[in-house]
Amino acid sequence: MPKKRPASAQHTEPSVTLSTRGSARLLARHPWVYRSDINEEKDVPPGALVRVLDPRGKFLGTALYSSSSQIAIRMISHGSVADLPALVAERIRAAIAYRKDLVANTDAYRIVFSEADFLPGLIVDRYNDVLTLQILTQAMDAAPVREVVVQTLCDELQPAGIVERVEARIRELEQLPPLQSRLLWGEKSATEFRMNAIRFHYDALEGQKTGAFLDQRENYAAAAEYAHGEALDAFCYQGGFALHLAAKCSSVTGVDSSRPALEMAEKNATLNGRELEWIEANAFDLLREYAAAGRHYDAIVLDPPAFAKTKRDLEKAMGGYKELNLRAMKMLRPGGILVTCSCSFHVSPADFLKVVADAAQDAHKSLRVVEHRGAAKDHPILLNVPETSYLQCLILMVSN
Ligand code: SAH
Repeated sequence: MPKKRPASAQHTEPSVTLSTRGSARLLARHPWVYRSDINEEKDVPPGALVRVLDPRGKFLGTALYSSSSQIAIRMISHGSVADLPALVAERIRAAIAYRKDLVANTDAYRIVFSEADFLPGLIVDRYNDVLTLQILTQAMDAAPVREVVVQTLCDELQPAGIVERVEARIRELEQLPPLQSRLLWGEKSATEFRMNAIRFHYDALEGQKTGAFLDQRENYAAAAEYAHGEALDAFCYQGGFALHLAAKCSSVTGVDSSRPALEMAEKNATLNGRELEWIEANAFDLLREYAAAGRHYDAIVLDPPAFAKTKRDLEKAMGGYKELNLRAMKMLRPGGILVTCSCSFHVSPADFLKVVADAAQDAHKSLRVVEHRGAAKDHPILLNVPETSYLQCLILMVSN
């Protein structure tokens, strides 16, 4: 039975009744229910906190509602929620505490990762003394929620600045009014951060995604553990892998198609007193050309953007992964290390292993799987929510 709502609650929550399939999803501990699995909803305002009922009217918990997304509700609690801002504050504190034990050797990491921290639609990253937040749903965009997010982060972490990074397309999809990325609190939006003893520049109001690829942090360290000799970092962005490899390798070349990313990579190299080579090119063309020219390396990193944004792209994505991995394997010397990544959720671990194995077959090479890794621990995987597991990083050693 649901607990009685306290007398202080200002309004009665609206409710939604799910289909049998929708209820089954929640009972399987998945937090999302699609609109097609909602049997009944009446006058539910955008972003409302809703009571969720099964087809027989049994109370299943409380969710955040979106009037525009295909994902109509995202569960926030399997019980009643009397005060959403208070719950958000409590969850943020819990997310910070979770990382206290698990995150080491860095002052940059993800503090809140949406569903994986039981705060659907909220992402918070820390870059030393600058925090960035992203709001992805109607419910998290509500003023009282925004206020408590900023207040809790200030109280717990005493940042010098909090920046909201806005993805225009997400706000459009959620039918939220347009906003600019901007400083929400404090005065600082640019800083310097440190990961595994490597230093990086950071500007919260520039760059792709949330600025840096924090999810690769532990993979950078792992790659550096095995790499040696001449190294190539394809899709290097601002030099995350390349700079880590530079500590172990005799030479490192980073390749990316984005000039601004390479300019930042060069600044990062200077900050660490390193000299690396940066090439602005299409990595597909460059790998094809280098492989045809008979170039050789001892370590190659492949960290392309998500090729499969939807299930329909899967086949094309697999073609892309195969080509890149094939060319890299051809160029690796015996004993060489291949660090190959996929950040497409639609490419399962089995799919990824298969496509890399197919590439090895075509390259006539035998490789050992040294490690099959995922995202860093500050990007938790929620056991019953496959969508929270999207990044794969295989570290392979070429035998012959
Ligand atoms: N390894 C990086 C993240 C890579 S993200 C890190 O750890 O920080 C993917 C990168 O691929 C982006 O920097 C993007 O500019 C680049 N990119 C996308 N398509 C490309 C292409 N065809 N050739 C080269 N780079 C490409």
